[in-house]
Amino acid sequence: MQADKIWQAALGELQLQVNKANFNTWLKDTRGVDYSDNIFVVAVPTEFIAEWLKSRLNSLVSRTLSTIVGQNVEVQFQVQAVKKEPAHSISRTMPDGGVSLKIRELNRQTFLNPKYTFGSFIAGDCNRLPYTAAIEIADNPGGAFNPLYIYGGTGTGKTHLLHAIGHVARASQQTTLYMSSEQFTNEFIAAIRNKNAEEFRNKFNDIDIFLLDDVQFLSGKTQTQECIFHILNDFLDDNRQVVVTGDRPPKDIESLHIRLRSRLEGGLLADIYPPNHKTRVDILELKSQQMRVAFNIQVLNYMASHFYRNVRELEGALTRLSTYARLNGIEIDLSAAKQVLSDMVSISKQQNNYHCPSVIINTVADYFAISPEVITSKKRDLKTSRARHIIMYLLRQQNHCTLAEIGRLLGGRDHTTVIHGCDKISSEISVDSQLSKSVEVIRDLLKSSQKAQNT
Ligand code: ADP
Ligand code: MG
Repeated sequence: MQADKIWQAALGELQLQVNKANFNTWLKDTRGVDYSDNIFVVAVPTEFIAEWLKSRLNSLVSRTLSTIVGQNVEVQFQVQAVKKEPAHSISRTMPDGGVSLKIRELNRQTFLNPKYTFGSFIAGDCNRLPYTAAIEIADNPGGAFNPLYIYGGTGTGKTHLLHAIGHVARASQQTTLYMSSEQFTNEFIAAIRNKNAEEFRNKFNDIDIFLLDDVQFLSGKTQTQECIFHILNDFLDDNRQVVVTGDRPPKDIESLHIRLRSRLEGGLLADIYPPNHKTRVDILELKSQQMRVAFNIQVLNYMASHFYRNVRELEGALTRLSTYARLNGIEIDLSAAKQVLSDMVSISKQQNNYHCPSVIINTVADYFAISPEVITSKKRDLKTSRARHIIMYLLRQQNHCTLAEIGRLLGGRDHTTVIHGCDKISSEISVDSQLSKSVEVIRDLLKSSQKAQNT
């Protein structure tokens, strides 16, 4: 059989096994190009997609291919780029090489925070996918991921990434429009009131990259959603780039019209989490350098251990300490840091997402209908392993436990086993909808048990 026919059959199978957004983002634009000596070569449009497929779907793809051809197949993903040119384009350069006035004028309409660049953004496990996708988009707008939808809690760096894309795009003379959804709504309503809705929509025609922040704000705003839906369609038809952020995935935004939701889900969905301890220390180091203050590693560790829900909180603590150091002309040691931050630490403790580890273990065990003792035992059947991996993942993500701690809590497992468990869940959660649903339900159970405790 020819490689392309085999691949078409495999794509048909894969379409049933991964969700639609993942299929469209990672598999749709691939081709089967060669099959010989049990090696099957799949052509993919970018290095990023090749890496992603290799790390997440390698075994699923080779299993699917093996079933189709009836023998074991090894799969290789090779980049064979087909760059799509934007269908629309405005004249970018003047005869003297300067930037066209129109571009300058359009770009002046949006303020981009000069501090929010890729250079000032720390990449870590919590943001690897949105960060890499954002860089890819900034280099190659309108390419593979359109729209890119980044979602996660407050203060995790979504706005920062949008501005960073904007800076790179402008440097390469692309017109970029950044808007919060609130600002969009206000301008749209004003335009309707002044009877120039048409003009309002036309303003987007000359934009190459549209960055729309905090789309959860549009919940229930039917007319605004409708306008955004049409604008999105125009962008996507022309292969112009759209990047949208929200505090949750589109399906969880109440009263979001199904048409708009499926548009937003049609590209890459990338979630962003609060950073882990190491990333928090890296962020603190970078931000203190920017503020031109230096703290010793104990002080940085202390801050990183007590402020972990989001980066904004971490920045708040850093600003407090550096102001204190500057005003008093002293170097801050650990005991001074504890004293200066004491009230912030106690507020943070009250609000955190921490659950007693035994509550996490019991809740997950209950969910899988197994006893907590089995979780800490040596048993390794599929169900027990899955439950154990989810516990590792939640202890790490919600409680920021160290690997050693998690290993201890789960019956003395070593840290490589824990890393494997956490990695397995974090990489499969974005492709396995059954798993993501289970984790979501477990988180809800944990939240309600906490509420019950607090009342
Ligand atoms: P969000 O839009 O998700 O609420 P922001 O983008 O406004 O969050 O980020 C809040 C603050 O945290 C900003 O000052 C931003 O620079 C900083 N920040 C967030 N994530 C990172 C990161 N990974 N590296 C450096 N700074 C970050
Ligand atoms: Mg934001």
